[in-house]
Amino acid sequence: MDELQIARATAQILYRLEHWGKIVADHRPSEAGTGRFDGEELQLRKLKRMTYELARSRAAADCRDFEAVLRETEQGVMVEMGRILAETVDPVLEGLRSETVAEEGEVCGVCQEEMESGDEDVKSMGCAHRFHGFCIWRWLTERKSCPLCRHPLDPTVQYLKV
Ligand SMILES: [Zn+2]
Ligand SMILES: [Zn+2]
Repeated sequence: MDELQIARATAQILYRLEHWGKIVADHRPSEAGTGRFDGEELQLRKLKRMTYELARSRAAADCRDFEAVLRETEQGVMVEMGRILAETVDPVLEGLRSETVAEEGEVCGVCQEEMESGDEDVKSMGCAHRFHGFCIWRWLTERKSCPLCRHPLDPTVQYLKV
């Protein structure tokens, strides 16, 4: 991994963490603040170690002082991260519409659980399908189309480039 790859992976995790709280708090308040960040924290630690390893191999290859190379490498990662995050818009929420559930018994297309009428956090992507905001957000962080009909997310929205 080089600086750009480390920066990309880090940005992705930070992005997920940042939006996680917001989306979970909207829809499933009880899940916010539970141990769900463990995987992300572990990944962040791994990426830090990769930065370290990268600096170590460079220092060895160039016969240079490790501390100095490490500082350079860390700075390189930060620069790339800044660039990536500056281009970032919310990849999912920008492409979703808020909806209200009119019919009793309508189920979320992701989790198949019933959505309650009056549920404030129901979203659609512009096709006929509706989902819990939390469920479709998670889905769309992996794929960019409706899980039921493959209707694409609005292509005019500039999505996270990581
Ligand atoms: Zn759902
Ligand atoms: Zn659909």
